[in-house]
Amino acid sequence: MSDILDGSKTSFEWRRRKPRLCVLPVGAFEQHSRHLPLCTDNFKVEYFGRFVAGELKAALLPTLNYGTSLEQSGFAGTVTLRAETLMQIVRDIAAEVEAQGFTEMIVLNGHGGNFALGPAVRDINRRDGRLKILLINYYEHYDRGLLDGPKRGLTDIHSGEFETSIMLAIAPEAVGSDRRDIKPRHDWRQSDLNTFAIRYFAPDGAPGYPSLASEEKGRAILASFKRTLVPHIRERLRWLRQDRTYTGKGRRTS
Ligand SMILES: [Zn+2]
Repeated sequence: MSDILDGSKTSFEWRRRKPRLCVLPVGAFEQHSRHLPLCTDNFKVEYFGRFVAGELKAALLPTLNYGTSLEQSGFAGTVTLRAETLMQIVRDIAAEVEAQGFTEMIVLNGHGGNFALGPAVRDINRRDGRLKILLINYYEHYDRGLLDGPKRGLTDIHSGEFETSIMLAIAPEAVGSDRRDIKPRHDWRQSDLNTFAIRYFAPDGAPGYPSLASEEKGRAILASFKRTLVPHIRERLRWLRQDRTYTGKGRRTS
């Protein structure tokens, strides 16, 4: 059994170790084309959550297996929260861990569509309470040079070369063989998903190049994450410990 302080440990063990830092992985339950399961983002963010918690000796909260997947609506199996619900869940969890003496929480986001995490986290940080939150989109921290597909635009954010390679490295049994490359209909950007569903750019809901994925590439991507993710977080924890105040001097906090 791993030594990570997670849900497999007792409440007495949590009380004995008194961690100050906790990690909340946030995933999504949404379609991932023909070859990846609905819980792909949960597999991945759980993996990175466990890694980060282990490295930083943090408590690991259970992965939130639902996120906001509004842009994926209408694909069988996809279940989305409303933005307000996700924000409320983050607020409730933050209040709980703060009341137990945690001073820092890393919200580790595993799904690009979880746009509601940003405003929820800012709102909590602006209160300047005892708990500070660091929002980390894990997928921003790897070497994009490892990918062979098109480098321009958002051709590989969902079920493509990147995501399929990671899944081949961490959960190969969950990856199917029907991997179809789909060139997106336009050169689009993430903010377009405020107006157009992902279906508009790729009718199957998966713009990208999964045929380029491999287990070897997945391992290289994981290694690149492991090199950069924890130093990035440690640096920000240091910044936080220098100055925990979010608001300006003239502002009364509440
Ligand atoms: Zn995904």
